[in-house]
Amino acid sequence: MRLRMPFARGRKEFPSHLWTQCPGCGEMLFNKQLVRNLNVCTSCEHHFRFGGRERIELLVDRGSFEEHDSEMTSADPLVFADSKPYPTRIEAARAKSGEQDAVITGFALIGEVPTAIASMDFDFIGGSMGSVVGEKITRVAERALAERRPLVIVSASGGARMQEGTIALMQMAKIVAALGRLADAGLPFVSVLTDPTTGGVLASYASLGDLIVAEPGALIGFSGARVTDQTIGEKLPTGFQRSEFVLEHGFIDQIVPRAQLRDRLAFFLTAFRPVAHDMRWSL
Ligand SMILES: [Zn+2]
Repeated sequence: MRLRMPFARGRKEFPSHLWTQCPGCGEMLFNKQLVRNLNVCTSCEHHFRFGGRERIELLVDRGSFEEHDSEMTSADPLVFADSKPYPTRIEAARAKSGEQDAVITGFALIGEVPTAIASMDFDFIGGSMGSVVGEKITRVAERALAERRPLVIVSASGGARMQEGTIALMQMAKIVAALGRLADAGLPFVSVLTDPTTGGVLASYASLGDLIVAEPGALIGFSGARVTDQTIGEKLPTGFQRSEFVLEHGFIDQIVPRAQLRDRLAFFLTAFRPVAHDMRWSL
């Protein structure tokens, strides 16, 4: 059931716990229906953000997910406070997202292929990468190497977590080193970019996939459009940080609608799978 929003005066008639207005087409979408449609607008296919745990449920074979390091939590090494202390911010993020930090990792089957998976959760401090995200992704990559599994990382992140300063930035190098060892072993890494994939996450592991796929309309870029404009002193084209633009310019390999993502990943992982035990994974 869809109704067109009769501008602001209609707002009271559409309580936000029941209805959401689509930023793509302006339709009012019934929340229950939106959830049933995987948070994709039934009218224009705008992809709303999607939770990290829901993402795993969507992508892996039912009941096959085995979570790792679920209790790992951040320390407050810098005793950092902006508008509120970092530990308070983490508590609020836990309550909001139901997660301990901004990534969920583990082993699962995708299309019956044993796979290692990491899925970021934007609801946890903007999916920011701090020491926990860095350590969990590094560990899942190392476990993938030990058990010779391909790795899938689904990114949804504003970048490095400023409350952890340099420690957050160091995670970029740590994860990239682990991915390098996977690559040396001939194990594929598939990077899935969702809205948004920006900052230090894009500048490190998210852009290193042997295959890089993105959801339609996802924001993909290093810094915000205004900062980029100011830095290079040029007006940049509309939508230059969206999936469609970066695909056209060769930065990613495919755009895959959310409803097709599981089958597409299963197809890739099956296609790359060695046909005999003594064969190596290859691309
Ligand atoms: Zn729409």
